[in-house]
Amino acid sequence: VALDKSDLQKPRYVRVNTLKIDTELAVEELRKQYTVQKDNMVPDLLILPPGADLHNHPLVINRNVFLQGKASSMAAVALGPKPGWEVIDACSAPGNKTLHLAALLKGKGNIIACELNKERFMRLKDNVKLAGATNVKAIHGDFLNLDPNDPSYSKVRAILLDPSCSGSGTAFDRLDHLLPSHSSDYKDHVDIQRLRNLAGFQKKVLEHAFSFPAVERIVYSTCSIHQIENEDVVQSVLHLASSHGFHLETSFPQWPRRGLPTFDGSQHLLRTDVVEDKEGFFIALFVRKGVHQPVDY
Ligand code: SAM
Repeated sequence: VALDKSDLQKPRYVRVNTLKIDTELAVEELRKQYTVQKDNMVPDLLILPPGADLHNHPLVINRNVFLQGKASSMAAVALGPKPGWEVIDACSAPGNKTLHLAALLKGKGNIIACELNKERFMRLKDNVKLAGATNVKAIHGDFLNLDPNDPSYSKVRAILLDPSCSGSGTAFDRLDHLLPSHSSDYKDHVDIQRLRNLAGFQKKVLEHAFSFPAVERIVYSTCSIHQIENEDVVQSVLHLASSHGFHLETSFPQWPRRGLPTFDGSQHLLRTDVVEDKEGFFIALFVRKGVHQPVDY
């Protein structure tokens, strides 16, 4: 692929923490230094020019805004929890998506944020506190050990599943293989066994999510470009999903890039492209109808 480094320059995305600041106010502040546009798909997501260095900006330090990419900000919106819902964020640290969910709940309802790794759990707890999210209960433990029949989870309506993955779609370093100076074939370096192990885990957590009795929406997301962690994982659980009453739905229908055409229904899946969108991300949305009476919000 003939690219130079400027092709990989990302616009700087900033997600407004609406728990702390109004989006218009954040725009006004940031416009003092930068040109600011609003994203047309993700509410409260702002687009700043590439190279805008916001790391020491007071809005970032005070957690009024987060440096969060567009693709990663699409996951919580795809899940679409409504204020008042109980939600599980199954693999949650450092909490970017947990805090996005908290903003979407507008302080009404609860999020159970599960994280296995102790250090990352501590970071999650700090981030939740600093962000002003009062309705997040962080749990240090394995999502696979949450008992779906425990009454504490009987009202959970949505699960966000953003499990450990290869991360092949994100880090700029890992995109270096796309630059002309690197002649070796990236595929030569992919550790297939590692991907298989990750996919095995991803399949397990997804299957576990289906067993929560009141859940009606599940988002499975990765920042991987590999079919084995994306379409293949989804395809492998379709039968079980349907036995629990779930089907795939299209998130962000206006988005042109869909799943690789590896099975019937993969057009419901969403991909972002590592070159075109500067980040490789994947979203699958499972929906089950008829669990709850329709409610007008
Ligand atoms: N959703 C997070 C965010 O947006 O900030 C990123 C999550 S990261 C891709 C995956 C996380 O899942 C890691 O922090 C990892 O330690 C955690 N994890 C891995 N296995 C887990 C398990 N069985 N139960 C709970 N968390 C797990």
